[in-house]
Amino acid sequence: MSRVIVVGAGVGGLAAAARLAATGHDVTICEQAPRVGGKLGLVERSTEAGLFRFDTGPSLLTMPQVFADLFEATGDPLESSLTLEPVDPVTRYRFADGTRLDTTADLDVLTARMDAAFGPGAGADWRRLSSRAGRIWQAVRGPFLTSTVDGFGDLARRAVRVRDLLTIAPGRTLRWLGEHYLGDARLRTVLERYATYTGSDPRRAPAALAVVPYVEQQFGGWYLRGGLHTLAEALSDRVVALGGTIRTGTDVARIETSAGRISGVRLADRGRLPADIVVANADAVHVYRDLLPQPRLLRRLHRTTPSLSGFVLLLGVRGRTPGLAHHNVLFPASYDDEFDAVFGNPAAPVADPTIYISVPDDPTVRPDGHEAWFVLVNAPRHGRGPGALDWGSKELAGSYAGRLLGLLARRGLQVTDRLLFSHVITPADLARSTRAPGGAIHGSSSNGARSAFLRPANRSPVPGLFLVGGSTHPGGGLPLVALSAQIVADLIGPA
Ligand SMILES: Cc1cc2nc3c(=O)[nH]c(=O)nc-3n(C[C@H](O)[C@H](O)[C@H](O)COP(=O)(O)OP(=O)(O)OC[C@H]3O[C@@H](n4cnc5c(N)ncnc54)[C@H](O)[C@@H]3O)c2cc1C
Repeated sequence: MSRVIVVGAGVGGLAAAARLAATGHDVTICEQAPRVGGKLGLVERSTEAGLFRFDTGPSLLTMPQVFADLFEATGDPLESSLTLEPVDPVTRYRFADGTRLDTTADLDVLTARMDAAFGPGAGADWRRLSSRAGRIWQAVRGPFLTSTVDGFGDLARRAVRVRDLLTIAPGRTLRWLGEHYLGDARLRTVLERYATYTGSDPRRAPAALAVVPYVEQQFGGWYLRGGLHTLAEALSDRVVALGGTIRTGTDVARIETSAGRISGVRLADRGRLPADIVVANADAVHVYRDLLPQPRLLRRLHRTTPSLSGFVLLLGVRGRTPGLAHHNVLFPASYDDEFDAVFGNPAAPVADPTIYISVPDDPTVRPDGHEAWFVLVNAPRHGRGPGALDWGSKELAGSYAGRLLGLLARRGLQVTDRLLFSHVITPADLARSTRAPGGAIHGSSSNGARSAFLRPANRSPVPGLFLVGGSTHPGGGLPLVALSAQIVADLIGPA
């Protein structure tokens, strides 16, 4: 049995802790925030009308099997503590010209809707793209998603077949793939949006990201009754039930070594906890810059483009809004302007952004006769330099929030006269609450052909130190983060 300290109670830290506790290790999680979940956050607001509960991060769960496996491997099945519900339509898209598309996991229905929305042939185009994406998925899932990878050479050593490499098209971008397969510009926009799921620019992100819509199609889009934050609560309960300890409000200042290997963590309040193994769920930049400085690995990380961040509005809304689905995406006239602003030098708030609105039809997260809106737009991360913006100013946050409410009205969703309250979360707030540098959602983006191989490996060069979470291999988003926990638990092995 090893004494394991997990730094951070994000999904990666909780999932790794559950797996390690289930295999007999003595596990303690240190989380600096007052509650677990990290970016899978929760804001509650009591009003005269009743209680609003907002997810502040993820609103769509994909690849639910990854979580079913996690719960199965650590005790009772997922259904014993969580209620998984399919979301259909997965997303309601609206384009600047008024066209609408409701996506669904059923490919026949989806392609028929594409023909109806964009004209005959659009569905067949998507089907061809989907088939290519399926082949990419077969090529990457084993050697990449469920195994540790440390650089391109490592992957090559695992004898990835040449045919697989041709399918993945490593030198090509997601934009290239869209132009190659899809005749309609609006359909290409739908494909390109999936680059943002990894915090990236479709003009620079690899074609292989076509697997993101593919897995959504294959395994569906899901919601958890009570909000996605219930996943963090259920994982936290699982860790405790397995004998693990969770210390919230416990800030780790340093990861310590002795004779070249991990010996414990130093807390910000000057306390010390001994450990044989540390699993760092904090962002890799925070780990290698502040907690256990590793200049060479930090330099490598700085060669990547950081992920974009998000600007969030949580709105308590009176009444019900006709025409809104659970997940809604309102596209602007020019998608390129958005990426020019977010990754620009200098970067700027997006003047006319794509607006995502999630409104769960779930009576447990809003009072009767009301709606809890989660509104998200892509934003440059907080900071200085290319692709960053100083979000620290209250005036900027306030005026941008006002601008978004105005844009919603112009796009047919007048909501200000029905607002009970609004709550703003800027990239600076996200950075502060989760310690993600600049509030970059996924650590580094997938911009650039080599980005996937510059992502930090799950096993660090320091004996006894492992990295888990969205800033490490295989990447961000709930299912990949949970897969990184599985990889780390396998690397450490049972007690
Ligand atoms: C606005 C938004 C929307 C998103 N939408 C989706 C979506 O729809 N679907 C999806 O799958 N994913 C989505 N994501 C991404 C998803 O939330 C993340 O990939 C995932 O939650 C990251 O988990 P993680 O394990 O990397 O840890 P994080 O959530 O980053 O947590 C790391 C934890 O470590 C703690 N920590 C850091 N440093 C220290 C320290 N020194 N001492 C102690 N504790 C420390 C932090 O406080 C934090 O709790 C979204 C994210 C955001 C922000």
